[in-house]
Amino acid sequence: MFDPNCIFCNIVEGEIPSTKVYEDDICLAFRDINPLAPTHVLVIPKTHIESCAELTEEHEVLIGHIFTVIAKIARDLGLDNGFRVVSNAGLEAGQTVPHLHFHILAGRPMSAKMV
Ligand code: AMP
Repeated sequence: MFDPNCIFCNIVEGEIPSTKVYEDDICLAFRDINPLAPTHVLVIPKTHIESCAELTEEHEVLIGHIFTVIAKIARDLGLDNGFRVVSNAGLEAGQTVPHLHFHILAGRPMSAKMV
């Protein structure tokens, strides 16, 4: 589903430019515009889902696919020293774009307790 008011839906449609890292029929990965680490990539489903709080059994294959893609991106980008995957859901988590996304962060030491 496409939400015309959603930034990430518009990135999927090519209406807003992005630096693509990976794309297939199901998901898209692109560089974060405001990187918080030397490597900061966002992986999103092409279909509009607000956050991981909206997920149900019907999304299990989708989420499995996204994590397989995350592992592939990490290999392709040579993130051999480790990386972090984060998905914020809702206001208190600091979610600013209400389209499900997974941050891949790498290239700097990260506390085990905080993002
Ligand atoms: P969150 O705060 O978890 O919702 O993450 C949203 C992320 O999207 C932030 O890290 C933003 O820097 C990033 N972002 C917002 N707009 C764009 C854009 N047009 N292209 C790439 N990244 C974006």
